[in-house]
Amino acid sequence: MIDFEVEPEFQEQIDWVEKLVTEEIEPLDQFMSVGTHKNGKALDADGWNAIRAYIKSLQDKVKDRGMWGFHLGPDLGGPGLGQVKLCLLNEILGRTRMGPTIFGCQAPDTGNMELIAHNGSEEQKKKYLEPLLSGEKHSAYSMTEPHAGGPEEFKCSARRDGDEWVINGEKWFTSNGVGSDFLIVMAITDPDKPMLEKASMFIVDTDTPGVEVVRNVHTIGTPLRHNYNTDSGRGGHAYIRYNDVRIPADALLGDEGAGFVGSQTRLAGGRIHHAMRAVGVCTRALDMACERALSRRARGQLLADLQMVQADLAESYIQLKQFRLHVLYTAWLIDKTGSYTREIRKEIASIKISAAKVNHDIIYRAIHLHGALGMSNETPLGAMWLSAPQMGIMDGTTEVHKANLAKLMLREYEPSDDLFPTYHLPKLIEKAQDKFEKVVDDYLNSAA
Ligand SMILES: Cc1cc2nc3c(=O)[nH]c(=O)nc-3n(C[C@H](O)[C@H](O)[C@H](O)COP(=O)(O)OP(=O)(O)OC[C@H]3O[C@@H](n4cnc5c(N)ncnc54)[C@H](O)[C@@H]3O)c2cc1C
Repeated sequence: MIDFEVEPEFQEQIDWVEKLVTEEIEPLDQFMSVGTHKNGKALDADGWNAIRAYIKSLQDKVKDRGMWGFHLGPDLGGPGLGQVKLCLLNEILGRTRMGPTIFGCQAPDTGNMELIAHNGSEEQKKKYLEPLLSGEKHSAYSMTEPHAGGPEEFKCSARRDGDEWVINGEKWFTSNGVGSDFLIVMAITDPDKPMLEKASMFIVDTDTPGVEVVRNVHTIGTPLRHNYNTDSGRGGHAYIRYNDVRIPADALLGDEGAGFVGSQTRLAGGRIHHAMRAVGVCTRALDMACERALSRRARGQLLADLQMVQADLAESYIQLKQFRLHVLYTAWLIDKTGSYTREIRKEIASIKISAAKVNHDIIYRAIHLHGALGMSNETPLGAMWLSAPQMGIMDGTTEVHKANLAKLMLREYEPSDDLFPTYHLPKLIEKAQDKFEKVVDDYLNSAA
């Protein structure tokens, strides 16, 4: 049975989240984006402490409501909602910057929770997972290297030395690396093994000697000077050098050589959650476009009455609806199957690819429709636009996902064993003629 409605009790939770986002979290985002009083004076340390306390009070409300870490199963203290319900919540939170933090489901901590839950030892779960779940600790995931995004080229290595591992190499775009309590580092442990067995993951406390933050790299739109402030709290995508970083043998996360395979748990979950949040971003952009179309006049007419504007709105609506349904379908498949099967990986790759395109197209059209206002920094569209390209890069680029998707699709087909394809009409017609000649003959024989 396919149903597009949720139970009334869960609808109440969705409505509660919607209200909290609209009344508290979106205004918090807006306030934090300037960080000043009405008179233009910047918030001082006490002011920021007040905001931090306020954030904590919102987190407490979320915990009281049983919605903290809503992506987690009951074994990890979450409500175990399943992916479809997660979609409905994530698309609301996707509109906000602080929403995931307030609900305890912020990247990269969420993916790292999954990693430790699936691969960690009991001690690792106690030391790292529990404080991560409660929000007391924060983590980062250190895989991409400055010279290579793909694992084939990774150089950062870990070698065993007695009871320790020694890590050497460089990583960058380690989101929230600065200000994190620990890092999950992917390092080559045996370069001679086949690709999927070369690397292992390690949990490294961020304050371990030898962990050097070279710069705290930010994305486009942030002034470059922030990259050089390496103790500015969380945020940014750290460029980290691991210089003879010694960690105990039991810092290995999962089995030796299982790093690349293990990382897929994290990345697959993360990709669908990004797609869910992209639905929220695009919905907001389209809402803004519709309001503007009904409010703004050009050449004596409302924008809403201009046919090319109508065409753009219709395109955005259709793209968004199709994308949302595909995300929900993928979530439904995961709930049904319970693991990342080939069929599911195919759908996840598809929505990861379309997330980038839909984001780009809908935000671009919304900006365009707003004219100069759209190009200004006085609407949420600017920040959305600056983030749009990252959807096609992070957690695997669009091209790589397209290549994987095609490979997964093609596994369901066989090559033709003939010069002409199986659907070559002359061949099919000949077969059909054989079939119907027999039908006609049988009929005539029975009539005779
Ligand atoms: C906002 C953001 C946050 C991130 N957070 C993290 C994080 O927390 N931890 C982490 O480890 N990494 C993180 N990353 C890094 C991200 O995972 C990489 O950027 C991504 O894997 C691509 O690697 P790359 O940047 O080295 O690009 P490259 O691999 O150098 O790719 C460059 C271009 O080549 C194309 N290309 C590559 N391979 C192929 C192919 N086979 N066929 C066709 N074209 C190809 C790509 O599509 C791309 O257009 C983050 C990135 C962003 C933007």
